[in-house]
Amino acid sequence: MTSFNDFGLAEPITRALTEAKYVTPTPIQSDAIPVVLAGRDIMGIAQTGTGKTAAFALPILNRLAANRKPLEKKSPRILVLSPTRELSGQILDSFRTYGRYMRLQTALVIGGVPMGRQVRDLMNGLDVLVATPGRLIDLMRSNGVRLNQVEVLVLDEADRMLDMGFIHDIRNIVSKLPKERQTLFFSATMPREIADLAAHMLNDPVRVAVTPVASTAERIAQSVILVDRAAKPTLLIETLRAEAMGQTLVFTRTKHGADKVVRSLNHAGISAEAIHGNKSQNQRERVLAGFRNGKIRTLVATDIAARGIDVTGISHVINYDLPNVPESYVHRIGRTARAGAEGIAISFCDHEEMAYLRGIEKLIRMPIPVTDQRTAPHIGATPAKHHRPNNGGRNGNGRNNGRNASGRNGGQPQRQNGERPHGQQARGGEPGNQQPRRNEHHRNDQNRRAPAAAQGPAAAQGAPAEIAGVAFMQQREPRRPHRGGDANRNAR
Ligand code: AMP
Repeated sequence: MTSFNDFGLAEPITRALTEAKYVTPTPIQSDAIPVVLAGRDIMGIAQTGTGKTAAFALPILNRLAANRKPLEKKSPRILVLSPTRELSGQILDSFRTYGRYMRLQTALVIGGVPMGRQVRDLMNGLDVLVATPGRLIDLMRSNGVRLNQVEVLVLDEADRMLDMGFIHDIRNIVSKLPKERQTLFFSATMPREIADLAAHMLNDPVRVAVTPVASTAERIAQSVILVDRAAKPTLLIETLRAEAMGQTLVFTRTKHGADKVVRSLNHAGISAEAIHGNKSQNQRERVLAGFRNGKIRTLVATDIAARGIDVTGISHVINYDLPNVPESYVHRIGRTARAGAEGIAISFCDHEEMAYLRGIEKLIRMPIPVTDQRTAPHIGATPAKHHRPNNGGRNGNGRNNGRNASGRNGGQPQRQNGERPHGQQARGGEPGNQQPRRNEHHRNDQNRRAPAAAQGPAAAQGAPAEIAGVAFMQQREPRRPHRGGDANRNAR
């Protein structure tokens, strides 16, 4: 499908899409929307940034538009489960945006805020309920919600649910839903536990797969700075000062670490705010709103809190700490490549993080250029081995640069006006496979990757998205068992 008009969506929906300046469906939308409209179950392999929210929200809204019926008390017709408060809020916003010309009853059920309002929202029934599993279970227990009228269940970011220890809650929720329903299941990866869960929940699903992790990484100019742990605070200050950076998201591994980084930046006269699970919902929303509207230029976040942050203006991601789960690296840097844009990701790697760096390079199947700023580089581990990836490397020829057979860019949505986040310029050609000199990666100049078209025909061809998706899944190892406790608390 090349236009939203081809789907035959109800007029109020196409009107809202035109207003939102959506012209061309993304690959996941082209593949999934007709299938969902036909009433089939879906197993979608896609991550955020691919336009997957609209891929499920639009056909669901069409169903509601075509079949208005009185709502039953405390009962939602559509239930969307998502792992985090932020992502849930964004999904609800999408439903409200695309459904703005339909009179819809919608609500959010998430932890961290009083339950009373949510009980009231549910009282007269809902068209769409978006929920995190923990709070929904609480409401089920207190008889605040009934799930026997659910017609469509969406499970978003299933692999993240697993990571956060929600699988038991999900099974519990699913057991209370009518057997006769449509189920739309989305996950960025497919470890065994997730495949089992999908098999349990889905009925003869159609499989749609787009944007392997590797191709997300390809659109972003990445670099690593090897650094002594003690020098990280100064390096961050220097990095932030070195260039007029746009909106910058800095990742730390812990909540405590995020607060410490903010204090150190503030001390150096750089304003920054933190977002993590110990902040109240109000604080998180205020900080996120400030970051979205550009008042906050530097946001320091932990993985869980950053999950689902969809801010199109992020020009830089800085990994102050490298994540110990390689997939998190890709999710983090993907924050700077929203809506088809490219971005810059700089990672600080200390002695103890070398193994993480190797894991990341293995996952993304490309070496990341390294600059060594350690005071005693000969001590300790050697830098990550810079293998040449079998698909040609980020400077090499023949990689698909995230393009699928239809030539669309890695499945990422592209707005009509082709806007680019501020702080970024069009990329010039890239010379060879050199290592950048210090701070070289800050320059918005020739040393960036060329757009695929400029890299020759091989770069613009690429494999079909489905094939790329399958190849990606086969190479992945099952995710480690969930980490439980802390993550759970953060999300609720
Ligand atoms: P998602 O993967 O659902 O988080 O979407 C990522 C971003 O792309 C969001 O900001 C959406 O508003 C935007 N988006 C989704 N679909 C399209 C489309 N077809 N055209 C333009 N932007 C889109």
